[in-house]
Amino acid sequence: MEYQQILEEIYQQILPYAKEGKQADYIPELAKVNPDQFGMCINTIYGETASIEQADTRFSIQSISKVFSLAMCLSIKGDDLWKKVGKEPSGTAFNSLFQLEIEKGVPRNPFINSGAIVMADILLTNLADPEADYLRFVRTVAGNDTIDYNRQVAESEREKGYLNAAIANLLKYHNSIDNDIERVLQFYFLTCSIEMSCRELSLAFLAFANHRRKFDYAGITLTSSQVKRMNAIMQTCGFYDEAGEFSYLVGLPGKSGVGGGIVAIYPLQYSVAVWSPRLNPKGNSVMGIKALELLTSYTKESIF
Ligand code: GLN
Repeated sequence: MEYQQILEEIYQQILPYAKEGKQADYIPELAKVNPDQFGMCINTIYGETASIEQADTRFSIQSISKVFSLAMCLSIKGDDLWKKVGKEPSGTAFNSLFQLEIEKGVPRNPFINSGAIVMADILLTNLADPEADYLRFVRTVAGNDTIDYNRQVAESEREKGYLNAAIANLLKYHNSIDNDIERVLQFYFLTCSIEMSCRELSLAFLAFANHRRKFDYAGITLTSSQVKRMNAIMQTCGFYDEAGEFSYLVGLPGKSGVGGGIVAIYPLQYSVAVWSPRLNPKGNSVMGIKALELLTSYTKESIF
């Protein structure tokens, strides 16, 4: 497959969408990002790679970090994790409160904010040095020691994080989190603030694309079946209330973030990351979704 040629063709096709949507501004630091940027990188499990435009520019991975959190929590808790968080699509926005209230503090899935806040609490309880251990895992799975948190972004989100604070309070009321609310939020925002490029994300997600390779990074281990199940959750819950649309248009498991990044996986073939800060009303990158839709159309490869 000539991925480089395909990516270049895709770029020409998505240029008309370059001004559609706007970047997330509810996190003040993200409002400062130049919205007119785009990058894309694909890596196959056989070592082929192709990239276009700003594939090496780092951006805020935001909710994509929820995949790393899930890997760590599954490794630590195994199936006990599912007593604290569900695995059904939410059909609601990533920061929605009302479902959490009706379902008495048990988040629908790990890829919405409430689910990730519960995972942050589990990690705080179970890791010896949560901030260092989390970063070590991400660096190891990506094979890159320079990946880091952006504390300015985390602090900026904490200052304006009223909705996430409401979610954390509701979780605490229902005894769904054990640690101090402020501490849990601070750690959750920190994990969201990690910065990576499309190339780094695509390489990191090869670990999830290839469930036949041993998953063992910085002491975090998963069975082949756990890796496959993580893909199942990415397929059904990776795009909040747009998971059905993404499945329909792209046909791959994936995860998005409000920094404008999307990572998708074609199991046993490749991992692809795309980034452009302008988002649609559901909080997913406009050019990102378009680029991935074209990728699976041109290659005729998807899980369906
Ligand atoms: N840190 C962001 C938040 O909690 C992550 C949301 C996202 O990327 N969808 O609102």
